[in-house]
Amino acid sequence: MRRLPRFFQRLVGAYVPTRPQSRLFYLTIDDGPQGSTTEQILDLLALYQAKATFFWLWSRYEARHTPALAARLLAEGHTIGLHGDSHISPWRHPFSLKAKLHQAKLLWTNAGIPLAPLYRPPYGHLTGLERWQGWRLVLWDWLMPDYLYHTTWADTLLLRLRAGDIVVLHERRWGLAEWRKFLSAAYASGWRAMALPVEEGPQLYGYSLSPALDRLCVE
Ligand SMILES: [Zn+2]
Repeated sequence: MRRLPRFFQRLVGAYVPTRPQSRLFYLTIDDGPQGSTTEQILDLLALYQAKATFFWLWSRYEARHTPALAARLLAEGHTIGLHGDSHISPWRHPFSLKAKLHQAKLLWTNAGIPLAPLYRPPYGHLTGLERWQGWRLVLWDWLMPDYLYHTTWADTLLLRLRAGDIVVLHERRWGLAEWRKFLSAAYASGWRAMALPVEEGPQLYGYSLSPALDRLCVE
């Protein structure tokens, strides 16, 4: 488990939040929505007064369940950003990425679910084309291996966590016991989880590696 250096995040134009003085960290949760698993995650977050930013995939949208799930999530103080239209690496379609994100945002909006202007590429695969007006690229400080079976990470993360770190967890039904362990221990040690701020405007830090390519992208 290694920290993703902040100089790298800045170099690729990712959003890097300022570090608060107190024990606050940014909790981000990828790969949803996942139906009842998301509901269980919301129950856990409520129990430990944690707020989070969820990065969701349009391919997992279900007309029967997702709107109600999103309404609960937003009412409880969490936010939803975009992980993509599906969990395909952006490296496979770099030049249509902008159009895909634009369309995914429209689909979510038309479904009555407002997205925060935050984007995290699947696998963290960067193309150099992520920085467009209106989107803030988000990577992480800690990416937990909770998408694998039988992983334990709660103790290590708690030991190495610094104020203002961005932590990634994943919506998987098999990982929730370790989530509970982490959230309860963090809460007991005075840590509070927050959603990523969105009100500061896009891209306060960093820069695009390829502004010329940005302009070439399909609208
Ligand atoms: Zn993912």
